[in-house]
Amino acid sequence: MLCERCGEGLEILSENGTQGLRCPECGWSVVTKNISGIKVDETKYEVRCGGDYKNKDHIKAVSEVMGCNFIMSREILKKDLSLVFVGQAVDVLRVKGVLVSVGVYFAVSPQFKWG
Ligand SMILES: [Zn+2]
Repeated sequence: MLCERCGEGLEILSENGTQGLRCPECGWSVVTKNISGIKVDETKYEVRCGGDYKNKDHIKAVSEVMGCNFIMSREILKKDLSLVFVGQAVDVLRVKGVLVSVGVYFAVSPQFKWG
């Protein structure tokens, strides 16, 4: 990504729990939430998750993310870090929200830089 003001390459800013982008040239910066760049990030991210297959909330969350039924979600949760979603940044954020809200742990690859 390039700076909106001067066109320099932006660097990732990460401090005090806030993530964003900063221009080393002119100091322009933006925090993750406001980055419109997330919408043009065409990377296909893979989300893998793990949880408790006996926990209804975990099963429901996986079912919602994958669009599959209860029984299938439970099978997914029986395996550790199964692939549950492949998609672009905006969708990954949504998926993360669903998983985080019920305490399912997850891993995104490649490294997810949008918070
Ligand atoms: Zn700049």
